[in-house]
Amino acid sequence: MSVETDKSYNPYQEVLKILDLAAEKLKLSKNDYEALRYSERELRVSIPVEMDDGSIKVFTGYRVQHSSSRGPCKGGVRFSPEVDLDEVRALAAWMTLKCALVNIPFGGAKGGVHCNPAVLSERELRSLTRRYTAMISPIIGPEIDIPAPDVNTDAKIMSWIMDTYSMIKGYNNPAVVTGKPLLLEGCLGRGEATGRGVMLTIVNLYKKLGQPLAGQTVAIQGFGKVGNAAARLLQEKGCKITAVSDASSGIYQEQGLDVDQLIKYVNAKGNLLKDYQEEGVKHINNQELLTMKADILIPAAIENQITEDIARKTQARIIVEGANGPTTSAADMILEEKGILAIPDILANAGGVVVSYFEWVQNKESFKWQEAEVKEKLAVIMEEAFAEVWKVYQDYQVSPRIAAYMIALQRTAETKKLRGVFP
Ligand code: GLU
Repeated sequence: MSVETDKSYNPYQEVLKILDLAAEKLKLSKNDYEALRYSERELRVSIPVEMDDGSIKVFTGYRVQHSSSRGPCKGGVRFSPEVDLDEVRALAAWMTLKCALVNIPFGGAKGGVHCNPAVLSERELRSLTRRYTAMISPIIGPEIDIPAPDVNTDAKIMSWIMDTYSMIKGYNNPAVVTGKPLLLEGCLGRGEATGRGVMLTIVNLYKKLGQPLAGQTVAIQGFGKVGNAAARLLQEKGCKITAVSDASSGIYQEQGLDVDQLIKYVNAKGNLLKDYQEEGVKHINNQELLTMKADILIPAAIENQITEDIARKTQARIIVEGANGPTTSAADMILEEKGILAIPDILANAGGVVVSYFEWVQNKESFKWQEAEVKEKLAVIMEEAFAEVWKVYQDYQVSPRIAAYMIALQRTAETKKLRGVFP
């Protein structure tokens, strides 16, 4: 199932559009937020890698720091053929807004390498990661900019980033990167944190709606780290996960899929959903998944999935964004007209960076928290942020996305004002 990519779509322009709308609602002047329309710093690097066949291949990588007003820049690194400067710029800006919305003391950044990790051997991937880390090492650091996992990167890759940076510095630097394995000062619960945040957002939403969550049907696009944790945790809450997909195919079962069995299946190396065979399970395509009848649709793959066409056709009642930027601004307006509630990425998928913050705090203090503490503190932050968004959504009669941007923008713009413009 090929995921739609439309080259006329520019994610950074999408961010600016919503930022301007939120500023208008807040009655901010141009001066109040002009600097936030630009990244603070953008680094483009060429990464030579000696491939297994002895040839040298040069990959292009980026690290973009959007804002450091509220603290060190923070954001993941993705390895994907879709990576380009505008995508990384947009993702960095979303990180600034996300960290401000959940009120953790970080700014926003993002990194990416234009590559297809599926065709790289483990050794090639390690060389690529180490050289990329070395090339961006002048601008990262525990007090400067802290990478983390994102699309196609995981705890193992974070170990290589931590080790490379530590080798360059000459001493151990665990706080330079989050999402590390537990043995390397990772944080309990970080692996499932984004999916847990999605689940908590849905729990908070249903509380506000005054409706029971048990029995609700859920379709999930993307069955990676975010999608499978969200599926498992929502099933524990009594939801029926009727459809999930990966890049190869979608699958559907009216009475609800067996999520535990599916997770076991996809965790076995190389297994794709297109080959999943089970009685009563139907294979569906990307469009069918995004437009099927479901109480809750969770796009948990990449940007630009809920386009105008999908928004017109979708039969979901509620959309909760596990991915960054899955809905275009034009699609958003259609969803609003149709009365579909879309809970935005900067709120719904913030669980990952919140637990990254906990990891960073523990690394700086060389102290390990219990998993129960991580879960409890995450739930408090997600509930507070949700309540704030809901209040602005109701008070200003705007979409939840505009409400979330208004809170994040106000917080960031105020911080900038207090600090003043240097020199
Ligand atoms: N990549 C995740 C995100 O988009 C996590 C970032 C982080 O933990 O720094 O929110």
